Amino acid sequence: MGDPDDIDDVPRIYVACLACYSAGRLHGRWFDVGTDPDGLHHEVLSYFATGCETCGSYEPECPECRAFATPFPCGGEELAVHDREGLGSAGEGYDLEHLCAVAALLEDFPERPVLAYLSEVDRDVEQAREGLRDSYAGSWNSAAEWAESWAEDADLGVEQLWPYVDWAHFAHDLELGGDVRTVEAEGSVHMFWR
Ligand SMILES: [Zn+2]
Ligand SMILES: [Zn+2]
Repeated sequence: MGDPDDIDDVPRIYVACLACYSAGRLHGRWFDVGTDPDGLHHEVLSYFATGCETCGSYEPECPECRAFATPFPCGGEELAVHDREGLGSAGEGYDLEHLCAVAALLEDFPERPVLAYLSEVDRDVEQAREGLRDSYAGSWNSAAEWAESWAEDADLGVEQLWPYVDWAHFAHDLELGGDVRTVEAEGSVHMFWR
């Protein structure tokens, strides 16, 4: 069960500078999360970091900019993810590999309950991908509804379903329908055809 994830909810994260956060300053921004962790990392750095002397501002393609990306001009070095939308309950760690892998799952399985299933498998992305791809058996109003349909499709014989017959319910209906009469006496139920 569980509703499919809200596909209108574009995955995004709020990345904050920890040094500023500890000092009570707001230093961070929302970033859309795609499927490329490296690209996202450079996008984040181009907001927080400064560039090398040649570039002036941070250029992802420049090795020197990359080498001197931290500390930031504010003195901060560490980043944290302080909020997220459309990605489930990931922690605060700056783990773009994981977050982009989740975004990739959402992109690959738009009709399946990606986030709910992910938390079901302890946010193990590989396990989730396998399950969503190979083990998904559809969306139903209840597990009972699925079981009925599955028993029908699998053409289960009556003897396999026998143990699950609700005999009390059956007997009650026979009684109400006027087929039988029950008389209780001396601790037993005595049955009479009508
Ligand atoms: Zn800062
Ligand atoms: Zn540079």
